[in-house]
Amino acid sequence: MTLPYKEFEARLKALRARGVRVREIACVGAPRTLLCVETGGPAAPTIALAAGIHGDEPAGPAALLALLEDDALDPRFAYRILPCTNPTGYERGTRESVDGTDLNRTFGRGGQSPEARAIVTANRDRKFALSLDLHEDVDAGGFYCYDYTDDGLGAGVVAAVEAAGLPAQALHDGYDLGFALPAGTATFARGVVRADPRAEAAALGALTYTLALARNAAPRALTFETPSRAPWETRLAMHRVAVTAAIAALSQVSG
Ligand SMILES: [Zn+2]
Repeated sequence: MTLPYKEFEARLKALRARGVRVREIACVGAPRTLLCVETGGPAAPTIALAAGIHGDEPAGPAALLALLEDDALDPRFAYRILPCTNPTGYERGTRESVDGTDLNRTFGRGGQSPEARAIVTANRDRKFALSLDLHEDVDAGGFYCYDYTDDGLGAGVVAAVEAAGLPAQALHDGYDLGFALPAGTATFARGVVRADPRAEAAALGALTYTLALARNAAPRALTFETPSRAPWETRLAMHRVAVTAAIAALSQVSG
C-alpha cells in the first residue's frame, strides 16, 4: 500500500535512467527537501501536478508515481510535478507537517511555511496551462473535484471517473467541505464544486496551493478528492483516470 517515503523517493529517482529530470528543492530553514520531477521540452505547454500536501492522503502521491512509472502522461505537454509536497506528514501519516502546520493554508504572501516558500520560489515566473492538486477526503464516499476553470473542465473529469465504473460524490449546497463558504459563492453539481476563489480564500483566511496558483500562474486549476475510506486500488484508479481525463480535456480546449 503506502510506500515508506525513502522508497517513494528512490522509485522516483530511478526514473532518471529514462531521462526524467528529478531534483530536490530545498526547504530553507527546515532540514528537508521536496522532490521536483520534470518531463518534456521547453516549447510544450506545461502542466503542474502536485500531491500529498496533506500527509494522510497518500493515494495522490502513489498515483503520480504510477503515472510516471507507466509513462502514461500525454507527451504533447511538459510537466512540473511535485509528487509529495509534505514529506514529513507523509512519513508520519498526519495531515500536518512535522511542525504541526496545515501546509495548504500557507501559500499567501510568498509562502508561510518552509514547504510553501520552496514551492512558491520554484514556481516564480512560471505559467502553467493547467494545475492539478491531488487530495483525499475522509468524509466522502466518491470522487469529487474543485473546479477553478472558466470552461468547466471538472464536469468532464467526473464523467470520465464514472465511465470507468468509479463512484462520484453527490454534492449539494451545504455539503461539508471542511470550511464554510458564504452562501451564493459556490455552485455544486455531481462531483464538482465551483467556488469563487476570492470568497474561498476569505473563508479560509489563507491561500491554498491551488488558490495561489490560480491567482496568476494557472488559468485552469482543479483539485481532486478521493474517498479515504474506499479501497486503495479504487482511490489510485480515481486519481489516475481524473488526471488523464483533465489532460485530455485540456488538449481539446487548447487545440
Ligand atoms: Zn487534502
